[in-house]
Amino acid sequence: MAAAGYGNYRNGSHSSRNSLNSTNKVDRPLSFNSNAKNSSLKSKSLNSSGLRKSAPASLGAATEAAKDDAGVPGRVRVAVRLRPRNAEEMVADADFADCVELQPELKRLKLRKNNWDSDTYEFDEVLTEFASQKRVYEVVSKPVVESVLDGYNGTVMAYGQTGTGKTYTLGRLGEEDTAARGIMVRAMEDILADVSQETDSVSVSYLQLYMETIQDLLDPTNDNISIVEDPKTGDVSLPGASLIEIRDQRSFVELLRSGEVHRFAANTKLNTKSSRSHAILMVHVKRSVKGRDSALSSNNGDNSHKVKSLKPPVVRKAKLVVVDLAGSERIDKSGSEGHTLEEAKSINLSLSALGKCINALAENSPHVPVRDSKLTRLLQDSFGGSARTSLVITIGPSPRHRGETASTIMFGQRAMKVQNMLKLKEEFDYKSLARVLDIQLDKLIAEHERQQKAFEEEIERIAREAQNQISEVERNYEDALEKERVKYQKACMDSIKKLEEKWMLNKQKHVSDDNKVGLKDDSSDVTSKEEGSRVAAMEEVAELKKLLQKEAHLRKAAKEEVDNLKSQLAQSKKLEATGNSEVLKLLKMLEDEACQKEKLEGEIAILQSQLLQVSFEADETRRRLDKGGSEKILGGRDSQMSQLQHPQLNDTANGEKASIAKLFEQVGLHKILSLLEAEDADVRIHAVKVVANLAAEETNQEKIVEAGGLTSLLTLLRSSEDETVHRVAAGAIANLAMNETNQELIMAQGGIRLLSMTAANAEDPQTLRMVAGAIANLCGNDKLQMKLRGEGGIKALLGMVKYRHPDVLAQVARGIANFAKCESRASTQGSKNQKSLLIEDGALPWIVQNANNETSQIRRHIELALCHLAQHEVNAKDMISGGALLELVRISRDCSREDIKTLANRTLTSSSTFQAELRRLRIDY
Ligand code: ADP
Ligand code: MG
Repeated sequence: MAAAGYGNYRNGSHSSRNSLNSTNKVDRPLSFNSNAKNSSLKSKSLNSSGLRKSAPASLGAATEAAKDDAGVPGRVRVAVRLRPRNAEEMVADADFADCVELQPELKRLKLRKNNWDSDTYEFDEVLTEFASQKRVYEVVSKPVVESVLDGYNGTVMAYGQTGTGKTYTLGRLGEEDTAARGIMVRAMEDILADVSQETDSVSVSYLQLYMETIQDLLDPTNDNISIVEDPKTGDVSLPGASLIEIRDQRSFVELLRSGEVHRFAANTKLNTKSSRSHAILMVHVKRSVKGRDSALSSNNGDNSHKVKSLKPPVVRKAKLVVVDLAGSERIDKSGSEGHTLEEAKSINLSLSALGKCINALAENSPHVPVRDSKLTRLLQDSFGGSARTSLVITIGPSPRHRGETASTIMFGQRAMKVQNMLKLKEEFDYKSLARVLDIQLDKLIAEHERQQKAFEEEIERIAREAQNQISEVERNYEDALEKERVKYQKACMDSIKKLEEKWMLNKQKHVSDDNKVGLKDDSSDVTSKEEGSRVAAMEEVAELKKLLQKEAHLRKAAKEEVDNLKSQLAQSKKLEATGNSEVLKLLKMLEDEACQKEKLEGEIAILQSQLLQVSFEADETRRRLDKGGSEKILGGRDSQMSQLQHPQLNDTANGEKASIAKLFEQVGLHKILSLLEAEDADVRIHAVKVVANLAAEETNQEKIVEAGGLTSLLTLLRSSEDETVHRVAAGAIANLAMNETNQELIMAQGGIRLLSMTAANAEDPQTLRMVAGAIANLCGNDKLQMKLRGEGGIKALLGMVKYRHPDVLAQVARGIANFAKCESRASTQGSKNQKSLLIEDGALPWIVQNANNETSQIRRHIELALCHLAQHEVNAKDMISGGALLELVRISRDCSREDIKTLANRTLTSSSTFQAELRRLRIDY
C-alpha cells in the first residue's frame, strides 16, 4: 500500500511541514487523559454501596440527562500503543530507525515517510513501548468499566496487525506476573470490587467469530450461535451463548483460560490461527439501584411502617464487550496459509465490513452497512450506538511493516470521528417489587394476626384482674359490714339488757319502799331514803351516759371503717377505668393497623394489575415475534364472542388464567372495579384491561355484573376520552353481552347509544371491532329486536362498514346474520309478518355486495343472513330487486358448506315469488 494512498484520509492528520498551523484545527474533545487521571485517583473511592462519589466528567452529565431518551454524546476514544521491538526485529532492523516516532505528551504520533519527511497524527492517547499494562488499562478501559458500573453499555476493542500486541493488551491473564495482567482481567477485578454480591449479578459469555460463524468458547459443542435482534429496540443478543455467573476473580480467570483452550482446539480443527478469528468477551452487569428506589426494605423488624412509596425497584443492565479483533493485515499476504479465495474473503468479511461502517459513521453518511457482517451487527451499539467505546490500536515499530502500520493508524483516525449517544440502561423491576410486596404482605398479615391474638389475651387478662379486685373489695366490705353490724347489735342488746335489769331492780326497790312507807310512816326516814334512791338514780344515769358515749364511739369507728372501705372501692373502680383506657388505646392501634393494611392491599392491587399488564405485553411481543409479525386473531368459530377474548387467554391458557384467577382472589373484584374510577389514567387503563380479561372468562361474568362492573364499563364509554379505555371497555362489554340477562341490562342502560357514540369517535379499527362485536351479540336476542333497531343499532352496525377493516366487517356480518336469524325465527312462529327491519334500514345493498366477500368468515355470515331473509315471503320482492336472488342461486350451487347450500336450495324452491322470477330469468331451477 503506497503512502500516497493516505491522501484521502486527511481527517485529523497533517504533514509535519504545516503541522503547527493545523494542529489547532484538530478536533480533540475532552481529553482521555483527564478522565483517566480522575479515575485512577478515584479508583479507590469506589464504594461498595454502588454509588459513585464522582463520575467521569462526560458521564456525570449523562447520568443527569439519562431521562431524556436521546442520551448524551460520547465520541469513540482511540489510543495507540506501540509494541517494543522483538528479538527478531532487534536483529533484522538493527540498522534502521523505527517507522514511527511518538510524542506522548503532545498525544501525537509521527509516521515516517522517508528520512526527511513524516506525517503527524493526533490520538486521544499515545502509549509508548514503555507503557505499563496498568497504565494502558487505566487510560483505555477504566472509564468504560466505570460507565458500565453506572449503567451504560461499554466496548473496549483492539485493532492492529497480527503480532502487534492486541491479545497482550486485552487478554493476558498475568498469573505469573501480576503486573502483566491485561484489560479483561483488570476490568473484571474492578467490576467485582464495585458490585454487591447480594443485589447485583455479573455474568459472562465468551465467543469466537470465524468465517461468519459464532462459536461458544465456554461450550465447544455449541458452534453455530445465531444473533437475535429485538425489533423494537434494535438491541442484539445471543440467546444461544452460554452465560456463566461470575462471583469471584479466580473463577473468571479459570473461565478465560478454558476459553483459550477451546479456542486453540477449535482453530486446530478448522486449520486456522487465532489471529484469523475475533474473540469477544461479553460481561453482563445487572445492578439494582439503591437509594432512590428503596421502596421496601425486605429485612425484618418493624415492617408495618417500612412501606413508604411503592415505586418498583430500578435495575440497570449494562454490558461490557471486549473485542480482540483478528489481525488487520491484508489477507492476500496470508494466502500462503492455504486458504481458498472464498475462505479468504469470508475471513476478512467482518473486518472489512467494520472498516466500511466506521468510514460511513465518520463521514456521517446516511447509510451504515451494519448488516453486512456478523461482527458489525454485534458491534451495532458500540459504533454509532449508545455505548461508551474505547479503541486501542496496536502497532509495531518495524519499518518493514510501514504499510500495515499506516493503515492501522488511518483506521484509528476515522474511528475517532464516530460519535455515540450514551444511554442509561435502566428499567423498572416490577417482578421483584411484586415478590417483595408479597413477602411483605404475608409478614404483615402474620404480624397482624399475632398482635390481634396478644391484644385479645391482654384484654381478657385485664378484665379478669379487675373483676377479681372488685369481688375481693366487695367481699371485704361485706365482711366488715357484717362484723360491725353484729358488734353493734350485741352492744345494743347488752345495754338494753342492762337497762332492763336496772329498771327491774328499781321497780322492786320502789315496791318494797312503798311497803315500808305504808308500815312505818316515819317522815324523816322517808327523806333519807329518798335521798338515797336519788343518788342511786343519778349514778345510774351517769352509767347510762357512759354507755351511750361508748356506743357513740363504736358507731364512729364503724363509720370510719365504712368510709375506708368506700374509698378502697373507689380506688379499685379507678383501676378498672385505667384498664379500660388501655383497651381503647389498643383498639385504636388495631384500627390503624387495619387501615394501613387496606391501603397496602390497594396499592398492591394497582401494582399487580400493572404487572399483569406488563407480562401481557411481554407475552404479546413474544407471540408477535414468534409469529413473525402477523397478528391475526383466531377465527373460525362464528358463535358468540370467543374470538374477542384477549388472545392471551386463548394461547397460554393455563398460566395466564391462573394468574388472573389469583389476582381476582387476592385483590377482590370490588377493589379492581373501584380502580376503574381511579384518578390516575394509567391505573384506569390497567384496571379496565384486567376487568376485560376477567370478563373473558365465563365463570367471572356473573360476578362482574353483580358487582356493578357492567355499569362501570358503560360509564367509562361515556366519560373517558381515551381510545384504549374505549377499546378495552367495549371488548369487555362484548364478552359480557354473551348472555341474555346481560344483553337486557346493556340495552336498559342505553348501551346502543353509548356503543354507537364510541364507534363514531373511534380511530382504531380494533375499537370498532369490539363495538361491532358487542352489538352483534345483542342482535342475537329475540326479545330485543325492536328496541335495538329503534335505538339505531342496525344503523350503527352499517355505519362501521365504511372503515373496511376485515375484522370489523366480520363482526358487522355476524350481527346481521344474528338479527336475520331472530327475524326468521319470529316469522316462522308467526309473531312477525312485516318486511325485515334489516331491509327497512337499508342493509340489503351491503349484504349483496359482500355475499361473496373473499374473507370466508364474512362470507359465511352473509350467506346465512341471506338464507334467513329469504325464508320469509314478504322480503322476496326487495331481495329480487336488490340482486339477492342471484347470490342465493350462487350459494345454493357453490357454497362449500353443505348445510348453508341446502338451506339456500330449500328456500329457493319453496318461495313462489322466487320461482316465478327464476322462470322469468330462464334460470333452471
Ligand atoms: P496480537 O494479538 O496482536 O497478534 P500478541 O499480543 O500475540 O499480538 O503479541 C505478539 C507478541 O508480542 C507476543 O509474544 C507478546 O508477548 C509480545 N508483545 C506484544 N505487545 C507487547 C508489549 N507491549 N510489551 C512486550 N511484549 C509485547
Ligand atoms: Mg492475538
